[in-house]
Amino acid sequence: MSELRELYQELILDHGKNPRNFGAVEDADYRADGHNPLCGDRITVYVKAHEGIVDEIRFDGAGCAISTASASMMTQALKGKTVDECKAIFETFHQLLTAEREPEEVAETLGKLQVFSGVREFPIRVKCATLAWHTFRAALDREGEAVTTE
Ligand code: ZN
Repeated sequence: MSELRELYQELILDHGKNPRNFGAVEDADYRADGHNPLCGDRITVYVKAHEGIVDEIRFDGAGCAISTASASMMTQALKGKTVDECKAIFETFHQLLTAEREPEEVAETLGKLQVFSGVREFPIRVKCATLAWHTFRAALDREGEAVTTE
């Protein structure tokens, strides 16, 4: 098993069981609901942003280990970043999962998020891994509107 693959399993297990930044934010500036009907994952992402910086980002909902771990690691990666940086990270993450870019090319931008390259061979799992990210984008772009991966 490759190192990346091993790290992937370790992180999915850890964050899937003990998600970070889990729970609603009552006074969020932005929020959106996301749904992945293929797997049944449902998520709500809450964002507080001030002067273009993501001060707070949390999520709740219920889904599989991959969607939960991805959401958990996303909140860790994006908290404290500017909105523009967040959009760039999302773009890079998406390119990684759709195999437009290789893990080693994006290591600097994504850090440990690069482990999600492990879901590439499984299109259904790609939807699980990107749900939180699409929901985050929707929260910023179209306040309050629900998204679906379909
Ligand atoms: Zn799922």
